[in-house]
Amino acid sequence: MQVDVLNASELKKAAPVFGQLSFDNHEQVVFCNDKDTGLKAIIGIHNTVLGPALGGTRMWNYSTEWEALNDVLRLSRGMTFKSAITGLNLGGGKAVLIGDAKTQKTPELMRKFGEFVHSLSGKYITAEDVGMDTEDMDTVREVTPYVTGISESKGGAGNPSPITAYGVYMGMKAAAGFKYGSDKLEGKKILVQGIGHVGETLVDYLVKEGAQVFISDINQARLQEVSAQYGANIFVDDVYSADVDIYAPCALGATINDDTINRIKATVIAGAANNQLADELRHGKILQDKGIVYAPDFLINAGGIINVYAELEGYDKKEIIRKTENIYNTTMEILRTASSKDITTHLAALKIAQQRIDDRKSQNLN
Ligand code: NAD
Repeated sequence: MQVDVLNASELKKAAPVFGQLSFDNHEQVVFCNDKDTGLKAIIGIHNTVLGPALGGTRMWNYSTEWEALNDVLRLSRGMTFKSAITGLNLGGGKAVLIGDAKTQKTPELMRKFGEFVHSLSGKYITAEDVGMDTEDMDTVREVTPYVTGISESKGGAGNPSPITAYGVYMGMKAAAGFKYGSDKLEGKKILVQGIGHVGETLVDYLVKEGAQVFISDINQARLQEVSAQYGANIFVDDVYSADVDIYAPCALGATINDDTINRIKATVIAGAANNQLADELRHGKILQDKGIVYAPDFLINAGGIINVYAELEGYDKKEIIRKTENIYNTTMEILRTASSKDITTHLAALKIAQQRIDDRKSQNLN
């Protein structure tokens, strides 16, 4: 195999690595490669001031490796702020596996990935994300203790997605209360984009409360299944211009972007997806100017991390529910703060999270 080698002057001219893409003072990025199992993974460790970097592993068929790198950088940074604002003693990290989870995920590949996680000696602790389930984490557990989201039958706290959905539901109710003066969702038109592990349970809560629920997904079989089970309406038109009260992004990130933002008719945005704003400052500001209440993603989708953190701290289901329910109060507080300070809701949440990290950093220095 030929390897191109840059000479000294070409190297000087090459763009720097740090500062590119979504690098934001990340502490460490680890590229994992194994020819035998076909593993190509990237582990992003954004910040470990509050504790070990905990965050799920996503398996996705990225169109380029750059796209995967960008995703892991954005996701791991998001985890730092998620744990910080939720009051957990965890840092932010995330991993991505490049490939199709339906056809390329094997136990050998998961074990090899686990070995790479183990090599970081606990600085990064993994869990499930898109394309992963509890059984995959059980497989990783065979080679490393630095994994959460383990099956209940194996002593873990089980699938975090239902708890994530409960937290999103709490955050959505708070946002509705703030915007409409009542947190009752009965009769509200709500569109859930992405009805996977989290989206489906969210649909269940919303239907039970009497909301008029619309669902959208790229997986047609899933749409039929969830529609039949919960009586939700399948939505086939453009999601963004849908005439609904609440838009709940529960698929992948960056759905609020230059292309979609001016079409959005919903007046509340509250969903599970990480990094919903393609550009958090600019798009956050446009939403604020349009009077759309945006419940910060990293705040309201923290139920899952609360659930997996129980495996490390040993608290029980009751405490998991209590902490997740508190997302309602935190969301309301953030929305009020943002309004009184005339800043975006995203920024209001980010500032509180950053303050907690800064405080711990100065305590550590003293
Ligand atoms: P999942 O893989 O189970 O579900 C994702 C769903 O989105 C799938 O049904 C998929 O077909 C659909 N989808 C993908 N692209 C789409 C598109 N363009 N339009 C419509 N649908 C599309 O994942 P999940 O565990 O339910 O997670 C959903 C989101 O919530 C992800 O962004 C994830 O990072 C975030 N999140 C999940 C958890 C958790 O506990 N699972 C916790 C925090 C955040």
